[in-house]
Amino acid sequence: MPFSKLGLSQPILQALSDIGYKTPTDIQKQAIPIILSGKDLMAAAQTGTGKTASFVLPILEKIHATQLDAQNPSSQLRSKSIRTLILTPTRELAVQIAANITQCAKYLPISSLAVYGGTDLEPQKKRLLDGIDILVATPGRLLDLAYQRALYFDDLETLVLDEADRMLDMGFIDDINKIIDRLPGARQSLLFSATLTDEVRYLADTVYDDAAEISITAHKKTAPKIKQWLITVDKDNKSALLSHLIVQNQWNQALIFVEKKHSAAKLVAQLEKRGIAADCIHSGRSQAIREQILADFKAGTLRFLVATGIAARGIDIQQLARVVNYDLPFPSEDYIHRIGRTGRAGASGEAISFVSKDDFKNLCAIESLLGHLIERKEIDGFTVKKTVPVSVLNYHPRRSY
Ligand code: AMP
Repeated sequence: MPFSKLGLSQPILQALSDIGYKTPTDIQKQAIPIILSGKDLMAAAQTGTGKTASFVLPILEKIHATQLDAQNPSSQLRSKSIRTLILTPTRELAVQIAANITQCAKYLPISSLAVYGGTDLEPQKKRLLDGIDILVATPGRLLDLAYQRALYFDDLETLVLDEADRMLDMGFIDDINKIIDRLPGARQSLLFSATLTDEVRYLADTVYDDAAEISITAHKKTAPKIKQWLITVDKDNKSALLSHLIVQNQWNQALIFVEKKHSAAKLVAQLEKRGIAADCIHSGRSQAIREQILADFKAGTLRFLVATGIAARGIDIQQLARVVNYDLPFPSEDYIHRIGRTGRAGASGEAISFVSKDDFKNLCAIESLLGHLIERKEIDGFTVKKTVPVSVLNYHPRRSY
């Protein structure tokens, strides 16, 4: 099915063709007609499914229609007002969503802005003076701007809660509630979440009464072109194994996930000791440094990036060939997020997980979520002393939140 069948107008279709999106993804096929119809929506979809464009495109279409109707009092923006608010958990995601809006709105007079913490407030306040069609914001920074009367919500037409489960995990619930309290009741609300946990459903109940619900299921979430495999390895052998794989297989680039920020710095030091240049991003590093490191990684001048899960949210690199789970994630849904960093939009990629005996429960949870075992490989010279048993596939861990 082509994009033109989804009710999008020519300037948007032209921009999509410029970007190189040929056909809509599953989530786009399902979400775009619902959003255009004005209904509220709750969607379960991971990063990597094309979910950003699934809300960006119909939002642009609706604003475009309003702008064309000069009789409509909303066709003009008032000072400090915003039409659309997209709340997202991290600065990286905010930047990525804003970039997607700019690309898709290339032929439309629609303004957009990303605001997030760790940057100067004043330029953001100035930009808001003329009003903004689409504001992408992290919750804390949005509240700061609202408290300083830098923006008004009276003309808000659409609210998007992006990566709602992640916002809850990161403790934004109070901020989100404060924001929702300030919004006009007559609005369209859209909620996107990798998983529809009880906590997300509870949040959804405070956002709207009766929303259409769609779900891109777990099996579809892992793109078929991502080759997944795991290596069982004793914990104290992990960094030697990683160096071995990098050198032996002449890896060009890899995004390497660790669980804790101190392990990120430690791993970088261990790699460097073996002559492999690497760097890391985690919540303890400044925004400017994180942005620079990400830019270097995207440009290919940095080949090995070690990241904690949260810092890596929103990393979107079209050609990333490989993701390594140096530590297995918990909750298990994060596994799908992480491997979705590779094999983006149809490109092929591989996701390799290092699993030691201590990771067994996490492995069971991940393989139960996937509904299948992950292929195991043995690497010569790295035979384990502590064997990792084969998972049972009906394991449901107790959540930590
Ligand atoms: P997202 O799930 O929004 O993070 O998008 C994942 C990746 O897919 C991004 O790199 C998008 O640019 C890309 N993408 C989104 N929609 C399409 C599409 N219809 N065709 C090809 N690529 C797409």
